[in-house]
This record gives sequence, structure tokens and C-alpha cells, in this order.
Amino acid sequence: MAVAGSAAVLAAPRARAQTLLDEKDPQAAALGYVADAKRVDTKKYPKFAAGQHCGNCALFQGKATDKAGGCPLFGAKQVAGAGWCSAWAKKAG
Ligand code: SF4
Repeated sequence: MAVAGSAAVLAAPRARAQTLLDEKDPQAAALGYVADAKRVDTKKYPKFAAGQHCGNCALFQGKATDKAGGCPLFGAKQVAGAGWCSAWAKKAG
């Protein structure tokens, strides 16, 4: 059971369509997600600091250098490594 379970988990990223999150997606818009952190609306999100992006967010599921990766806030959709949203959290360590 446990073995079959982990195989399914490993196979999931391939089987799943690697859809990139659209900035116009209601959930994305609600969190102020942009695919390029250079376009963050700093008036609306004054807590944004230069250097923050999905690739160095604690919630990002890919490697820091990945162009895109999963984010638990957006389900099966991938976020851009260079993106940002208002839920950005500093990676521990
Ligand atoms: S929570 Fe982090 S990884 Fe997810 S979209 Fe926001 S900044 Fe990117």
C-alpha cells in the first residue's frame, strides 16, 4: 500500500498538465499574483521588497532556479519562478 502510494505521488507531476497560472485567475487576482515580480503593484502591496519572487518563497514547490513550479495556494496550476503574490513568505534557512 505504502509503495503504491508513493509511486502515484511520483507519477503525478508528469500526468498532470503543467498549466501556468493566469494572472486573471480569480484566486491569483485576489492574492495580487503577477508572473513577473517586476510588475508588482507596490502601491497596493507595500510589503513587497525587491528580490522577493516565487523561486525564493517558502511555498514554492520547485527548485529556486526553476522557470515554474507548483504552489499549494493555486492547486494544480504552476506559478512562474519569477512571479510573486502577496502570500510570499521567506524560506527558512
Ligand atoms: S505563495 Fe509564494 S510561490 Fe506561491 S504564488 Fe505566492 S509568492 Fe509565489
